[in-house]
Amino acid sequence: MAQITLKNVYKRYDNTEKKLFGRKKAENAFAVNNLSFTCKDRSFIGILGPSGCGKSTTLRMIAGLEKITAGDMFIDEVRINDLLPKDRNIGLAFEDYALYPPLTIYDNLAFNLKAKNMPPPEIKKAIDKVAPLLKVDELLPMKPSALSGGQKQRVNIARAIVRQPGLLLLDEPLSHLDGKMRQTLRQEIKRMHREIECTTIIVTHDQIEAMSLADVIIIMKDGELQQMGSPLEVYDKPVNEFVAGFIGEPPMNLIPSVIAKTENGFLFTFKGSDLQVQVPERYNELVSDAMTVTLGVRPMDVLITDKHTSTPAQVAVYENFGDERRVGVRVGGDLLNITTTEDVFYTKGDTIHLDFNSEKTHLFDPKTGLTILK
Ligand code: ADP
Ligand code: MG
Repeated sequence: MAQITLKNVYKRYDNTEKKLFGRKKAENAFAVNNLSFTCKDRSFIGILGPSGCGKSTTLRMIAGLEKITAGDMFIDEVRINDLLPKDRNIGLAFEDYALYPPLTIYDNLAFNLKAKNMPPPEIKKAIDKVAPLLKVDELLPMKPSALSGGQKQRVNIARAIVRQPGLLLLDEPLSHLDGKMRQTLRQEIKRMHREIECTTIIVTHDQIEAMSLADVIIIMKDGELQQMGSPLEVYDKPVNEFVAGFIGEPPMNLIPSVIAKTENGFLFTFKGSDLQVQVPERYNELVSDAMTVTLGVRPMDVLITDKHTSTPAQVAVYENFGDERRVGVRVGGDLLNITTTEDVFYTKGDTIHLDFNSEKTHLFDPKTGLTILK
């Protein structure tokens, strides 16, 4: 059991490392830039962000595999900056499940325990406890070469938890697996976490994975923390355009708009388009005439109505996915995507009227990208 805290942590890889890995990066760029957060004891944290945003670097620093450039890290009250990896009581499972090919699965699981001089009966007890949690009990006598990708990944995670670490770190553990297998293993990881109650951090670029597994999500971009919150918070109250566009599939529409004042309140207007949509009343205090905003609205929160409260728009794209329909409308240079489960059918050029689900619209400052909602 453990609480982990990062305080103003930075990481800059030095040049030799850069040459070695042939990566192109601005000379002084930080792979991790002033990162601070706390993961409470027994929580399940997801670090989410696009490739290269510093997720693995963060995890490797926590594990002690990568030196930190500046800042402090604590497990509970203990500062761990200078603690060797083996003294941090951490279990690690990375994307590549480097299992030892000549050893059986049992011996792969036992390897680290033997290295710690654990007596064989205790090793057996530890393995017998963990194996059923990840459904690897039947694989114990086999060699890694006989296992499927999903089975190897289970063994990889079992190996990380067999030592009963205080903190479990998982780096994209499902990324090699196909859709169905990912879903099954995801559910099993969730169940395993409930049973062993070990503070767990999973790193992933897959929002579904993060949203379904974690109680708290940390969203990163360019080495910086963008938002930390529950899956619902980051989905419903994104603090900036990046988070808004990153969480949710299909992504939120983010469309430049100019506010126009009329006798009946305000309208969203769009450059290069005739479309005008009523601004929800609850924003009246926040907007003013000629103000530029980025309007954020999820495709399912754009409503096709017959109330004609907006000016007409022409359908540019219509796709039928069976369980939902996607309709696209050109708004100036942008495509406004709409999804609906209603049984509608359109062809290109059809005229429709739109409304926004007032509770579910977001306004961002186009200069800073930050939300202007309170
Ligand atoms: P993520 O896991 O989010 O994809 P990483 O933490 O692996 O991102 O990488 C963050 C940044 O640090 C990237 O720009 C990457 O190119 C750089 N980087 C990662 N590892 C090294 C390394 N060993 N040497 C130099 N640069 C690295
Ligand atoms: Mg990574």
